[in-house]
Amino acid sequence: MLSTTTDGLREAAQLHAPAGVAGAPAVREVDVVVVGAGLSGSAAAVALARAGYRVALADRHAICPPQFRVEKFGGEQAESFRRLGLLEAIAAEATPFKTVMNLRRGVLIDQTHTPFYAIRYGDLVRVVRDQLPATATFLVDEVVDIQTRPEGQRVILGSDEVIDARLVVVATGMGEALWNSLGITRRATFEKHSVSFGFDLTPAQGSRFRYPALTYYGEGPADRIDYLTLFPMGDVTRANLFTFLDDRDPWFRAFRREPKATLLRTLPGLSSFLGDFQITSPVQAWVMNLYEVERHERDGVVLIGDAFQTNCPAAGIGVSRLLVDVERLCAVHAPRWLASPGMGRDKISEYYHDDVKQTSDRRALSLSLGRRLLTLDTSLQWRARRRQHFLRRRVVAWFRARRAAGGLDPA
Ligand SMILES: Cc1cc2nc3c(=O)[nH]c(=O)nc-3n(C[C@H](O)[C@H](O)[C@H](O)COP(=O)(O)OP(=O)(O)OC[C@H]3O[C@@H](n4cnc5c(N)ncnc54)[C@H](O)[C@@H]3O)c2cc1C
Repeated sequence: MLSTTTDGLREAAQLHAPAGVAGAPAVREVDVVVVGAGLSGSAAAVALARAGYRVALADRHAICPPQFRVEKFGGEQAESFRRLGLLEAIAAEATPFKTVMNLRRGVLIDQTHTPFYAIRYGDLVRVVRDQLPATATFLVDEVVDIQTRPEGQRVILGSDEVIDARLVVVATGMGEALWNSLGITRRATFEKHSVSFGFDLTPAQGSRFRYPALTYYGEGPADRIDYLTLFPMGDVTRANLFTFLDDRDPWFRAFRREPKATLLRTLPGLSSFLGDFQITSPVQAWVMNLYEVERHERDGVVLIGDAFQTNCPAAGIGVSRLLVDVERLCAVHAPRWLASPGMGRDKISEYYHDDVKQTSDRRALSLSLGRRLLTLDTSLQWRARRRQHFLRRRVVAWFRARRAAGGLDPA
């Protein structure tokens, strides 16, 4: 087990052997242990440590491994990062972009002009972890057991080290190794809901992409493609392709074997906007199961981020939801709980019943399920909604363009 504080000098968490127990494993005492240092756990640990609590953050990986997760954010997500005091550091390492051309069937639907930031997930997590104050302790170890009580919690690491804390925040993402010891169960709301792909592109030699960022929607329900989004990331263009394919569909294999040819065959209007290109990285694929947890209202422990609920990547809502978890827990509930003795289930329940959190969870689930229907459903109702959705966007864009050209009275 490797233990570091951010300046390597101070150990704020107290480390001692239990009184009278010779040779017993060392016990570290903190106010809060955060288990899992992905985006949600790292952000929560930073917020709590900055608020003055003694925090230990534990993850089995010293460096977040390269993995396909969120790669761009903007709008309400940027605002949450700003409120958490993280945006400036993230923005300094991200690639900013603003204008996105939105296209379907070879035709421009509209353009959006919102500040966005592109950054690989490993870099995003590294930057957030780097914001941990020197008073916090980062432990590189696997948490193998969590014992919870109304008064105090005990976290056992793979190295046998023990951490005693008043509150345990579980931010272990989609892993479920700890669920048994916590008595929590997970219910699949939709297995194999979506399949997403991530890869890098560069323009053919000597050329430049006409549009640095574009979104290209699927042609219709038959291709099962929601959209392809292309955006600048460092010195490449990054592609996220969001689909509702079955992972046994022959398309899946064809795309992995010949990604460029398969993409152009499936989205025939794309090449006139993109020009020639090459795919310069392996294609990463992710099959997403949607789930929610059950029996999670327990003494001394709270779940945040993907550990609580997963969402469809195409809905672009996972980070909004996890940042609501982090903000509500760290700014509202945890300070109240820690101000009085005990950490019983009655306290913990307040977080799960928080109106803002519940609204955010419901919205994320509804957007996740809605994207699939908007892409695939061939009932009369959803065909009409799909047509209306794209038509409305084109009409709004037409009026905006006329107004900008001075052809319409803004009143
Ligand atoms: C393909 C894909 C694309 C996505 N795109 C978007 C998008 O465009 N927009 C958006 O908003 N959201 C998107 N998301 C969702 C977003 O990426 C996730 O919601 C977010 O990454 C979840 O972060 P987390 O910290 O909860 O979990 P994770 O990042 O999975 O972190 C969990 C951490 O816990 C650690 N851990 C687990 N078990 C233990 C243990 N026993 N002991 C110690 N450590 C442990 C792991 O090592 C890991 O570091 C996407 C997700 C996927 C899969």
